[in-house]
Amino acid sequence: MNTVDEPRLREIVGENNIKSDPSDLYVYGSDSSVHHAMPWVIVKPDTTEQVQKLMAYANENKIPVIPRGGGSGMCGQTVPVKGGIILDMKGMNRILEINMPDVYCRVQPGVVDDDLNLALKQYGVFYPPTPASSRIATIGGEIANNASGVRSVKYGATRDAVLGMKVVLPNGELVSLGAHTRVEASGYQLHKLMVGSEGTLGVVVEATLSFVPIPEYRCMGVANFDSLKDAGEAIGSIMASGAIPSMLELVDSVAIKAVNKTMDLGLKEVAASLIFEADGQVKEAVDYEINKMKKICEKHHGQDIWASYDPKERAKIFMGRKKLFPALSKYDDKLASTSLADDMAVPYSKMAEMAGKIHEVAEKNDIIMTAYGHCGSGCMHTKILMDTKREDQWQSARAAITEIYDYVRSVNGTTSAEHGIGLSKAESFKVEKADSINLLGTIKSALDPNNILNPGKLMQAPDNWVTASNLRYSVNS
Ligand SMILES: Cc1cc2nc3c(=O)[nH]c(=O)nc-3n(C[C@H](O)[C@H](O)[C@H](O)COP(=O)(O)OP(=O)(O)OC[C@H]3O[C@@H](n4cnc5c(N)ncnc54)[C@H](O)[C@@H]3O)c2cc1C
Repeated sequence: MNTVDEPRLREIVGENNIKSDPSDLYVYGSDSSVHHAMPWVIVKPDTTEQVQKLMAYANENKIPVIPRGGGSGMCGQTVPVKGGIILDMKGMNRILEINMPDVYCRVQPGVVDDDLNLALKQYGVFYPPTPASSRIATIGGEIANNASGVRSVKYGATRDAVLGMKVVLPNGELVSLGAHTRVEASGYQLHKLMVGSEGTLGVVVEATLSFVPIPEYRCMGVANFDSLKDAGEAIGSIMASGAIPSMLELVDSVAIKAVNKTMDLGLKEVAASLIFEADGQVKEAVDYEINKMKKICEKHHGQDIWASYDPKERAKIFMGRKKLFPALSKYDDKLASTSLADDMAVPYSKMAEMAGKIHEVAEKNDIIMTAYGHCGSGCMHTKILMDTKREDQWQSARAAITEIYDYVRSVNGTTSAEHGIGLSKAESFKVEKADSINLLGTIKSALDPNNILNPGKLMQAPDNWVTASNLRYSVNS
């Protein structure tokens, strides 16, 4: 039941920073997932003090609060399953400091990834974890999801780049976690605990992030394969060889066809392609890495192998990969590209088998699935292309995902590489974390005894998803 005191909220954040119009509530009830639930009100704070006051009020009155950045999460992380207040953090979007001597920057959580990188570019540096959604994803959302991207294979994920942060706890208290230094040995690494916590432990109001120099040289290559298995094995061999790719991406036949339908890239429609890149300050070193990767691709029957330093050529290939997700919706006009349990990670030696498994399971269940991802980091994505009006397709999708996740766990893989758990993957997450689920619950209760921050997520999420006849469906129905 909605028990929120709107006049009190207006006192805290001001008249213009509150929305409760039904159409706004509907829009904020979903993210980039297939889930939906109605919030009670949307509040957009401008300052840390407002966040503190708001959390203290919510805690006192046991009202759920769901922090939200760009809303690009794919698993329902910001969907308010228990109702409550959506805390839209996009208003806190200032870059507070770019400190070149100490090699860090301080930012507010609502800063959009691309905006940060645009600002850093003037100093010849970049923030590497950047996901493909960098035009909309915020630093707060990336921290809460431990986002990663094409260059994480060399430079790491968000968790590696976060040095420290300021967090408002559920009771309104403001704490500083971590440090402004590269090393910090004392005590529990609480700032790292916040990374990947999906807005369930605290509200990030400031982050201190490391950055790295933009490399002088970047060379990008492509290798085509007649078999997905060969491409998967090439990934494993590249990573086991000691090569240092700055990008190693897989795209399968479904992905290639979708990209060709939406962009004029003229990609060869083969079973799979690998996109690889090396970067650095010394050209000979980059040449060395690229040649090593080319040779490994050749050994695994790669064809049409080429590589280029030309920025235009590189941008063309990169664009195809970056816009893959929206492109998948054009694969077939009758089929929607649906994010359900859409990412995972497996050990390198299982990459080929994993990619094959996705296609095998799709065929068995009469749906189309694609295998792609930042495979150099061990990450594999899939999207289900299906007729969302057909109930039987939802059932097939669910059966397919269950089988795929059973496989992932059987080879010591993980339920989430970078897209988080939210609602879509909760069932599998609980099985995967069976040994530590009580410990996770203990940490949550210690920090949030009234269970107000993003309740009903991670280990609290419902086991069964509701299968619906349209794309967006309510977890409450
Ligand atoms: C086209 C597309 C491509 C994508 N590609 C990638 C990719 O390459 N790699 C990748 O990792 N992900 C990818 N994603 C998923 C998603 O964009 C990322 O996980 C991103 O980090 C989410 O950021 P956001 O600001 O949109 O967060 P939201 O979706 O708004 O929120 C995500 C989570 O963060 C929490 N949160 C938000 N702000 C705060 C805060 N200030 N304090 C505490 N918690 C907070 C929310 O409660 C929620 O649990 C993609 C999504 C799309 C739509």
